[in-house]
Amino acid sequence: EAAPALRPLSAGHLEHHLTDKPRALTPNKDLVFGHTFSDHMLQVEWTADAGWGNPRIQPYGKISLEPSAVVFHYAFECFEGMKAYKDAKGHARLFRPDLNMNRLLRSTGRVALPSFEKDQLLECIKELVRTEKRWIPSGKGYSLYIRPTVIGTQETLGVAPSNRALLFVICSPVGPYYRTGFNAISLNANAESVRAWPGGTGDFKIGSNYAPTVKIQLEAAKRGLQQNLWLFGKDHQITEVGTMNCFVLLKNEQGETELVTPELDGCILPGVTRDSILGLAREWNEFKVSERKITMGEVKRAAQDGRLIEMFGAGTACIVSPIKRIQYMGEDIMVPLDPSDPTCQAGPITRRLNDELLAIQYGEIEHPWSVVI
Ligand code: PMP
Repeated sequence: EAAPALRPLSAGHLEHHLTDKPRALTPNKDLVFGHTFSDHMLQVEWTADAGWGNPRIQPYGKISLEPSAVVFHYAFECFEGMKAYKDAKGHARLFRPDLNMNRLLRSTGRVALPSFEKDQLLECIKELVRTEKRWIPSGKGYSLYIRPTVIGTQETLGVAPSNRALLFVICSPVGPYYRTGFNAISLNANAESVRAWPGGTGDFKIGSNYAPTVKIQLEAAKRGLQQNLWLFGKDHQITEVGTMNCFVLLKNEQGETELVTPELDGCILPGVTRDSILGLAREWNEFKVSERKITMGEVKRAAQDGRLIEMFGAGTACIVSPIKRIQYMGEDIMVPLDPSDPTCQAGPITRRLNDELLAIQYGEIEHPWSVVI
């Protein structure tokens, strides 16, 4: 006899259990990334026998789990990072949220957590954001950071697929990464530690990729460098910078102006910002845009020959983060900033990409990437 069909995740079954103690908003000037959380969260439970329960919007609060829950032992965990923006008319907007849903579904699959109906989850997240609309701070650069998470909750020490899971989404009001304009960062190009490797899990957004990076990040900080530049291989290929994708604008050895980011070879997190920057730059059609391997040797030679033009990291948290210096094998590689404006800590293309993405995210330019909810 066929097993009964598992219940799908359904926004139609969303329940609202609203708080009777709404909290005071944090003033914009006091927002610290990821420190404040909104009044409500979304929560959905899954069991291997029944499938997905009813999604619930409920007061933000503690989760009770037994110490034997598999998430605590074997890191059955994956997550997403996305933002809701408030436009000039006061409407809430998401930016390419379908890409975050696709990536979360890929991640859950990689750590044997349950599949879900991604359009239904997106509908639930939209309803959560509508519920939390007053928590989206106003002002350019301000937004509500959204953190969807899936964990395995089976109470066992066996290394096996979890027969229970919990999906939850929490929200955190955040301010601009740089309060006083751009602030270019310096990097430690570390040739000893690798973040990801072929056949590994670096292209999935799973918690187990992140904890081991913090010690390496501390080593960079000890040298006064803000981020680690993750290299891979004997030829020191550039992969990512901190938790951002990496872009290099240079005049290549053929004399062409080229914007390069490492190709998605399994060692690179497929960033939504990365994909959007590639899209915009290709639409501009003003220089060559490449997804290809790029090594420290190539960047160093370009810098020596005066062909290195700009370099930046890209991710949802900061949008773009200009890079001014790379410490590599005991040497400093200097990256030019804006020669026409010594007060600006970003090159003109870095700045233009940042400004255009922000204009789309805040609905100043109408674009299909920005979804009014
Ligand atoms: N690389 C890593 C390792 C990341 O954690 C992130 C943040 N998700 C990114 C790149 C940037 O991705 P996105 O543009 O989707 O935020």
